[in-house]
Amino acid sequence: MDVFDKSRKFEQLLRLVQSQNRFFYSRPILPAAAPVARCGDRELVNLGSNNYLGMTEHPEVRAAAIAAIEQYGTGSAGSRLLTGTTPLHLEMERSLAEFKGVEAVVSFSTGFMTLAATVKTIAAEGEFVFSDSLNHASIINGCRASKAKTVVYSHNDMSDLAEKLAGVPAEAGKLIVTDGVFSMEGDICCLPELRKLADEHSARLMVDDAHATGVLGKTGRGTAEHFDLEGKVDIVSGTFSKSFGSVGGFTGAPLPVAEFLRYNARESIFSASLPPSAVATVNAALSVLKRDPSLVRKLRSNTEFIYERLVQDGFKVAHHGTPILPIAIGSDDKAYQAAGRLEEEGVFANPVVFPAVPMGKAIIRISLMASHTEEQLSRAASAFTRVGKEVGII
Ligand code: PMP
Repeated sequence: MDVFDKSRKFEQLLRLVQSQNRFFYSRPILPAAAPVARCGDRELVNLGSNNYLGMTEHPEVRAAAIAAIEQYGTGSAGSRLLTGTTPLHLEMERSLAEFKGVEAVVSFSTGFMTLAATVKTIAAEGEFVFSDSLNHASIINGCRASKAKTVVYSHNDMSDLAEKLAGVPAEAGKLIVTDGVFSMEGDICCLPELRKLADEHSARLMVDDAHATGVLGKTGRGTAEHFDLEGKVDIVSGTFSKSFGSVGGFTGAPLPVAEFLRYNARESIFSASLPPSAVATVNAALSVLKRDPSLVRKLRSNTEFIYERLVQDGFKVAHHGTPILPIAIGSDDKAYQAAGRLEEEGVFANPVVFPAVPMGKAIIRISLMASHTEEQLSRAASAFTRVGKEVGII
C-alpha cells in the first residue's frame, strides 16, 4: 500500500467527470467577484459570488487596501500575539465590536478558522455542543475537534432541540450553535426560539453571521438586528470574505470570552495575522456600510427583482428574505446541463448536486450583489428562461 493510492484513484474520477462536461470548479474568473466577470473567453453575469455589497470593487475600499500596502507592506509575518498586530488590526476589532453590539472582538485569518476555533475552544471536555444539522462545515470541524460531545439537532427543528437539551445533565455546560443564514438554502435560524431554549436550559447561544452580516437587519448588523434581539446572542462569529470584500473572520463575545479565545485558540496563537491590506479593506468596508446602509436595501431590491422575474417565468425558487436563492432543478444531470447552457448564454451560476443536497433535489444556487444593475439581472433572468425551457425545468 502507498499513501498516494487514494489520490491516484481520485485523479481518475476527476478526469472522468471533467471529460463529461460536469465540472464547473476552480476556474479563473476576472475580475474576481465582480457583477460581470470574464471566465475563459466569455463575459458572464456573476450570480455565484458572496460579494453581497460589492465591496471588492468599491473605490474607497480599494484605495484603503492599496494605502495599507504602501504604509505597512504586504504581509504581517507574525501572529497577533507577537509581531502581527498593527494599529489597523486594533481599529478593526474595536469598530466591529461596536457594529455587532458586543463587548469585544477577536479576529482570525479565515472565516473557516474562526468558526472551527471558536466552537472547539469554547466547548470543553464534559460539556455539550448542540449543532444544527445544516450548519457550515467549519462549525462541523470545530465540533469534531472539540473534546465536548456534539449533539446534532434537525435543521431549524426547535422541538427536536428542546428534546435533546432535556436529554443531557442539567448542570453540564452547553453551547447551542447555528448559522444565522444557512449557506445553501438561504433560510434564517429561529433566533427568538433558540434564545428561549438557551435560557430555559442555561445554555449559551452562538450564531454564525457569515451570510447575515451586511445582509440582515435594517442596517446590515445581522441576525440579531433582523429579529430585534440585539445584545441577546452570547457569541457571534462571521467572515470578512462576503459583505466586507476581504478575507478573515471574527468572533464577538463578552470581553473575558474574547480574551480567552485570543490567548487559548491555537489558530490565534500559532497562525500569522491578517495582512494589513486585508484589514484595511474590512475597516473601509465597515465605514462605508455604517455611513450608507442603502447598500443593504439595494441588495434586497436586486434580490426581489430577479426573484419576481424567475417566479413569473415558472421557476420554483425558495426565498427567505436573503440574497441566496435556490432554484429547484431536479436531477444532477439536469443541473449540470443547465449550468453549462447558462454559461453559453452569459450567466455564471453554481449547480449544487448530491451529496450537498438529497439525490434528485439538485438546485442552481444564485446569490445577488448590491452592485448588480437591473439590466444585468434582467439579462440573466432571460437567459434562465431560455435555458429552463430547453432543459425542461419550466
Ligand atoms: N460560515 C459559513 C456559514 C460559510 O458559508 C462560510 C464560507 N462560505 C464560512 C463560515 C467560512 O468563511 P470563509 O470562506 O471566509 O473562510
